[in-house]
Amino acid sequence: MFFFFTCGTHIFTKNLKGYENVTVQCQNCGNISARVFSRWQWFTFCFVPVIPFSLKPWKEVGCPVCNFYQDIKFRPDVTNRNDNVPMDAYGHGGAAPPAGQIPQYK
Ligand SMILES: [Zn+2]
Repeated sequence: MFFFFTCGTHIFTKNLKGYENVTVQCQNCGNISARVFSRWQWFTFCFVPVIPFSLKPWKEVGCPVCNFYQDIKFRPDVTNRNDNVPMDAYGHGGAAPPAGQIPQYK
């Protein structure tokens, strides 16, 4: 009797939501071909994913040319693309007219 167990890892890879159309420069090979991926590595037993390596998927910038992946936190140029929040919420409008001061005419 021979039992054959196969253990390994499997990485679920998909395009990160909100970055589907974002292509950036690879910092390894320099090609403008890197995409933003969500990657989640699982421990597999008999080809069935059973235990995730991490609680959440990684957000990574991956290059299909040189197969180089790096964490998106090292690429602030990528994350800043979609976060152009206008900074006009503070310090504008001047002083509001004081309330409750009704001019008295005699
Ligand atoms: Zn590359």
